Amino acid sequence: MGNHYMDTVQEAMVRTYNRFPVVLDHGEGMYLYDTEGKKYLDFGAGIAVMGLGYGNREFNDALKEQIDKLIHTSNLYYNTTLGEAAEALCRVCGMDRVFFTNSGTEANEGALKAARKYAWEQKTGRCEFISMEDSFHGRSMGSVSVTGHKEYREPFEPVMGGVKFAVYNDLDSVKALVSEKTCAIILEPIQGEGGINPATLEFLQGIRKLCDDNGILLIFDEVQCGMGRSGSWFAWQEAGVKPDILTMAKAIGNGFPVGAFAMTEEVAAHSLKPGDHGTTLGGNPLAGAAVKTVIGLFEKEHLIDHVREIAPYLTEKLQELVDTCDKAVRVKGKGLIQGLEVSMPTGEVANKALEEGLIVITAAQNVIRMIPPLIVEKEHIDEMCEKMKKVLS
Ligand SMILES: *Cc1c(COP(=O)(O)O)cnc(C)c1O
Repeated sequence: MGNHYMDTVQEAMVRTYNRFPVVLDHGEGMYLYDTEGKKYLDFGAGIAVMGLGYGNREFNDALKEQIDKLIHTSNLYYNTTLGEAAEALCRVCGMDRVFFTNSGTEANEGALKAARKYAWEQKTGRCEFISMEDSFHGRSMGSVSVTGHKEYREPFEPVMGGVKFAVYNDLDSVKALVSEKTCAIILEPIQGEGGINPATLEFLQGIRKLCDDNGILLIFDEVQCGMGRSGSWFAWQEAGVKPDILTMAKAIGNGFPVGAFAMTEEVAAHSLKPGDHGTTLGGNPLAGAAVKTVIGLFEKEHLIDHVREIAPYLTEKLQELVDTCDKAVRVKGKGLIQGLEVSMPTGEVANKALEEGLIVITAAQNVIRMIPPLIVEKEHIDEMCEKMKKVLS
């Protein structure tokens, strides 16, 4: 499939991605269209980013208006959108103070630094982190150090030291790693990249208690599962297990590159101070407009309620695939972050789906992620199932 758009990318970019042989051109709602006019139903949402779907008129208009008003100022000054975005995000994520970054990776970097600074201020000497196997927290030196895939870390060693990996959903394995040096425990309440694995309530509660009993901070990475996808604004809220530091990104800007880490007042009061952390672009007026508009539209369109209403239907239809297709093994996950475990190569599933006009994203070794825009309706789920039946037969 020769195409000058592909050719230029092939020649001019570092080869860090295996791209599918399609050139996407525009999108509308739940659908994407390529340069040849072919239509794709999107169950990947640009990796859990496009909560509002494509071409949301109000979102696009708000960004255009802000572009004409003011795009960037640097964080040396106040600007008109930042405060509203911070207030709205703190309100929905249930934390007290937020720092805006440009990505999820940077949010996790900031969270690690905040935790270290907290220990440093209190002179506890705590400097180690406990993370989980199969976790994903990013690709920078700090975030990759706490990422539980050896293949992602090994080529870049020595990465940040003092990180131990426990088995997800196995509290005893976490307990075994705790010492007086443990600074923080970091985990995703629902692992995304690792195969859509939700933490059990007992695991989250057990970790919270372990942290409280031992003076350890708890960091939740909700970059993927947060912002409505789990059926609450953030997954910690439905579990009732509150982290000390929460990281976010992906859907909070609906495609505008913005992330954030937020913390409780207790952590904020004893960690990062002026000069400890910063970013030139993070939280600029345009990013602020994106976050504030996304939250406003989620509320106006009652998207969280919609996720709760529609999610059981997605589970039901995925279960139907398991019941009728030999190659569909089981369903896992919750809300609109579900996974279909398959017994054929996931790359083959994604490629065949693409041919059928369906976009899906793979996870771990054997999972197809079902992470559609949150505006998905029953008719789209039915259409996805029809296409997946062909792919898996
Ligand atoms: C995607 C992801 C990240 C990294 O976010 P980027 O915006 O790609 O830097 C971190 N943690 C989790 C759980 C993610 O899914």
